[in-house]
Amino acid sequence: MKKFTRVLAVVLALCCVACMFSACGSSKDENVIVFGTNAEFPPFESVVANGVVSSADGTQQYDGIDMAIAVKIAENNGKTAVINNIEFDSLLVALQNGQLDACIAGMTITEDRMKEVDFSIPYYTATQVMIVKEGSDIKTAQDMADKKIAVVQGYTGQTVVEGLGFEFTAFKKGTECVLELVNGKCDVVVIDSATAQKYVADNAGLVIVEDATAFEAEEYGIAVKKGNTELLDMINKEIEAMLADGTISSLAVQYTEAE
Ligand code: GLN
Repeated sequence: MKKFTRVLAVVLALCCVACMFSACGSSKDENVIVFGTNAEFPPFESVVANGVVSSADGTQQYDGIDMAIAVKIAENNGKTAVINNIEFDSLLVALQNGQLDACIAGMTITEDRMKEVDFSIPYYTATQVMIVKEGSDIKTAQDMADKKIAVVQGYTGQTVVEGLGFEFTAFKKGTECVLELVNGKCDVVVIDSATAQKYVADNAGLVIVEDATAFEAEEYGIAVKKGNTELLDMINKEIEAMLADGTISSLAVQYTEAE
């Protein structure tokens, strides 16, 4: 009988350990909001040595406008924000799977994405721009017609270039696109405005070309799983307050000017 009890104890202990390492222990902590992002999008999210928020296991830290917003949303509601840094293309599926509670990734609210997830009210307005080398003859979006164009896979920049009917090469990261441009392997990178400014500031010899007629304004929103109104209401309330009291615009200034 004693032996049976011991065996039972071991089995129960193993079950507990298994649970800790599987999904049932992770994102279901009531006091934690798991935010998904793709930390390759300065000034909104980057991997840094000392950031404002970390991954669940504490091994990676993140900083940027979105990261600061995520922390405020969680803290103002007595919760802790943790970041799950995954590929941009996988974010919405991870949200649907329940791997993430919310997604904050400089993500443009689009009709297509709205079919998959629910979006918060907009918190930031951006537009696509072109990054070219100084002296480039690209002055408008139409000038890209016979040029080598680089975009990031799955970003709205890709959708916009597809819409113009031009050929392009899609890369995994914005930094890869910029490297192609710096090395003369492409002529133009189409990417979101604030991120483009960051890349231009960090790389001598690059300039931004805008074309307001070709590139419409885009609005960033935080996504949640369809029907998760409780979390969405909480997020909307926080965004509304942060827009009203100027928190988001001062974060934008802070992280755009920061090195
Ligand atoms: N705003 C763009 C999009 O939604 C890029 C977002 C990002 O790279 N994080 O596709």
